[in-house]
Amino acid sequence: MGWTVAAVWLACSGVQPHNRTVRRHGVGGGSGTVVKSEEEWRQTLSAEAFRVLRQKGTEAPFTGEYWNHRAAGTYACAACGQELFASTTKFDAGCGWPSFWDAVAPDRVEFREDTSHGMVRTEVLCRRCGGHLGHIFPDGPEPTGQRYCINSVSLSFRPADPKPHAPR
Ligand code: FE
Repeated sequence: MGWTVAAVWLACSGVQPHNRTVRRHGVGGGSGTVVKSEEEWRQTLSAEAFRVLRQKGTEAPFTGEYWNHRAAGTYACAACGQELFASTTKFDAGCGWPSFWDAVAPDRVEFREDTSHGMVRTEVLCRRCGGHLGHIFPDGPEPTGQRYCINSVSLSFRPADPKPHAPR
């Protein structure tokens, strides 16, 4: 990892501990309704999606499909299809991952304290399938002041206005 990338990663990873309340709902794969074995997920997802969604990996910054994606629409969970984030809440955080200041609805996501890598962060998971999405930091823009820092590979974009099928 080069110095520039490392610096950006540190800047975006919220090294400072913060006091966000972590809601806990169940353990393991999350409290959602889509429950599959890890082997089933491995067969369903691409290798990179499995590494991030099921093994809590992080894609390299500025490499994902959506960090610089500006189209209007909705971002759904790449694992289970639940709609998670609207393009209207997407903003450029400059960190190389898609960033949002809110979820579509509070019950779409789940938060969990993450103390890995010597940091105290708040992990964001899909409430429906327990898939790892990314982290949330309290340094986002108004109106929420929150920054959902999400891996592109955990998301699947749905355009707001898909072109109608051509008449036959
Ligand atoms: Fe999901």
